[in-house]
Amino acid sequence: MRTVEEHRTVVAALLGPTAIVELPLAEARGKVLAEAVRAGVDLPPFDNSAMDGYAVRAADIEGAPVTLPVTADIPAGRTDVPVLEPGTAHRIMTGAPMPAGADAVVQVELTDGGTETVTVSEARAAGTHIRPRGEDVVAGAVVLEAGTVLGAAQIGVAAAVGRGTLPVFRPPHVLVLSTGSELVGPDRPLQPGQIYESNGAMLAAAVRDAGATAEQLSFVPDDVEQFRAVLAEKVDAGVDLVMTSGGVSAGAYEVVKDAFTGHGVDFVRVGMQPGGPQGAGVVRLGEVDCPVVTLPGNPVSSLVSFEVFVRPALLRAMGHPYPDRPVVTARTREALRSPEGKRQFRRGVLDARDGTVGEIGTPASHMLGALARADCLIVVPEERTEVAAGEELDVWLLEAF
Ligand code: AMP
Ligand code: MG
Repeated sequence: MRTVEEHRTVVAALLGPTAIVELPLAEARGKVLAEAVRAGVDLPPFDNSAMDGYAVRAADIEGAPVTLPVTADIPAGRTDVPVLEPGTAHRIMTGAPMPAGADAVVQVELTDGGTETVTVSEARAAGTHIRPRGEDVVAGAVVLEAGTVLGAAQIGVAAAVGRGTLPVFRPPHVLVLSTGSELVGPDRPLQPGQIYESNGAMLAAAVRDAGATAEQLSFVPDDVEQFRAVLAEKVDAGVDLVMTSGGVSAGAYEVVKDAFTGHGVDFVRVGMQPGGPQGAGVVRLGEVDCPVVTLPGNPVSSLVSFEVFVRPALLRAMGHPYPDRPVVTARTREALRSPEGKRQFRRGVLDARDGTVGEIGTPASHMLGALARADCLIVVPEERTEVAAGEELDVWLLEAF
């Protein structure tokens, strides 16, 4: 039996770092920056006004109230700003370039707002309400380090220093294939013994959630020839990972196991619950050798296995500095029993205000309704068989908090 850590290492090793691609900012959100970004310009690029008001020489308003002639109007974006002569004022807007000769801005609220002449009611020191060139960022400085996860603010600063594209790690492309002769699509009524196929849509969404790209193949029955044929047709050099679900347990008709045993996939039992039966390896499919991860079919096992093994491997391949879900500790609201030697990932709902977590549903791996209401996974370590109410456990946060 493999430990959770051992199988995580095996799956992570299947995916090397992806290539670096230059993406437009609109497509860069959530990606990891592959190279540092240096500012091509100072920020601000020129001395400019922090207020709507009047550009003046501080010395000219020392004896305020004073009245000065207004000799120019400087809206934001004006490029031919005249010099400010002593004893005059320029009307100026926020973000507009400071005229040479001026050393302060008086905000409009301290004036009568005039356009021919302006009366300034209070004196202001030199430097007031001026945003100096390079105050925020100096040209040539690193504004984003390699390995930064690109969110709104990071994309904002890249745009501000004049970048339209950024070098990021290409998202891996994952083929998702469900197996099971009992599965049908949503367009047909269920016959006795049939269920609606759910892992395909769920796992493809999970792959996209992780920032990778997914293609959901139409599910196949428990037939080795059909299973092989679909993959041989669909896998090409653009596929980074094939992720199957179902057909890996101890029963008869285990299509994935039958197709891949002896062809590069190791089928193992991992000391966890749900998600004991796992497989991983590299298989010759079509014309290429392709990494394969075979997840168990029970929907909860499938998604938990994805969380534990595949998601961190995908994030790592995309250069993420923190490929794991955020982990917090919380006090369990109820006593829990757990099998010895297995790490349990139970579905929970966290109360972040009082630091408690409650189990939702049961530990059984078919309880998709409860999974859909959970916002975290409660981790019961391998060696624990009983946990008392009030004890602290690690909790993986599934949603962004
Ligand atoms: P298996 O791993 O193929 O033995 O499947 C275990 C359980 O998960 C069975 O109850 C299956 O019907 C169910 N199952 C397998 N694949 C899917 C799927 N794609 N969608 C929904 N349920 C599934
Ligand atoms: Mg099956």
